[in-house]
Amino acid sequence: MSRRLEILREMGLTPVWRLRKEPVVTEENGWIEIKQAVPACTACGLHKTRTQTVLGVGDEQADWLFIGEAPGAEEDRLGEPFVGQAGKLLDNMLAAIGLSRNDNVYICNVLKCRPPGNRNPEPEEVAKCSPHLMKQISLIQPKLIIAMGRFAAQTLLNSDASIASLRGRLHRYAGLPLIVTYHPAYLLRNLPDKAKAWEDLVFARKTMQSL
Ligand code: URA
Repeated sequence: MSRRLEILREMGLTPVWRLRKEPVVTEENGWIEIKQAVPACTACGLHKTRTQTVLGVGDEQADWLFIGEAPGAEEDRLGEPFVGQAGKLLDNMLAAIGLSRNDNVYICNVLKCRPPGNRNPEPEEVAKCSPHLMKQISLIQPKLIIAMGRFAAQTLLNSDASIASLRGRLHRYAGLPLIVTYHPAYLLRNLPDKAKAWEDLVFARKTMQSL
């Protein structure tokens, strides 16, 4: 539970009501379609080695959309993104700015299938899988996208620039505000960059407050 929610609960002010975006029929149909299309997808070779597809988790009308790279072994086994070590760090990062994965947050990946041995996604896999991500974004219509790591940032911004050069400013994807930060798995290996990720989260929280 977020700190804010805890305080509100202590004060007897829960449940907290949030004005929902009106789900339109086409949006509901869109989710039904994507939830059928992704598990049935054979557009690239990854369908041969996956246990299952990993579409995403969280509030389908969330204001916050966090996008990673691809499912790992645990995600492939459980069908949910960011449930391994990197996921624990992501949950802590969310908590640090008062968020949690089931409250106004949606989490997904560029790729919906695990690359064997956790190798990097191939350009062709990204190209074949991107339409699923694009559709997902158009259904969620988040207020802010957080692209975590090189693959999410470069795919959404159609750029080959480094994370270091992309972070710290506001970008747009299809008109939606987008912020770039390091991937949690990278941060597990490069602890000094956690301070920069914290700066990115503070920037994201400030940006959301201004939207
Ligand atoms: N890394 C990712 O990019 N996504 C996951 O779901 C897990 C680890």
